[in-house]
Amino acid sequence: MNTNTSAAPRPLAAPFTDGLRNGVLRYQRCTACGGTQTLARYACQHCGERWALDWRDAAGAATVCAVTEVARAPSDEFRALAPYTLALVQLDEGPRLMAHATAGVHIGDRVHAGFFDHQGRTLVRFAPAP
Ligand SMILES: [Zn+2]
Repeated sequence: MNTNTSAAPRPLAAPFTDGLRNGVLRYQRCTACGGTQTLARYACQHCGERWALDWRDAAGAATVCAVTEVARAPSDEFRALAPYTLALVQLDEGPRLMAHATAGVHIGDRVHAGFFDHQGRTLVRFAPAP
């Protein structure tokens, strides 16, 4: 029996959050079917394979799929940012991601990932591609 309780397990999303702190957007890629996904999952959302997910660095380029303006923040944490823009984007590598975006982006726009710190966390904000 392992009685070592000092080492907390590494969070599933650690590669993603570590990447954000270093200005890198990461996604999971399935080595069994080639499917891609954002958010940290234990299994591939395309084929269900477990333990076959690698983390990859995204280039940050994406296309806007949907946009909404948030006027009323869902929590105290985001109240200082309101009003703000959220966008669902499809990364060029395939997976979709919900993130902040600069005001005025439209469906179909080409955007690029940027990063900003807010209340101790690094968040993603997409802006029009140069
Ligand atoms: Zn798969």
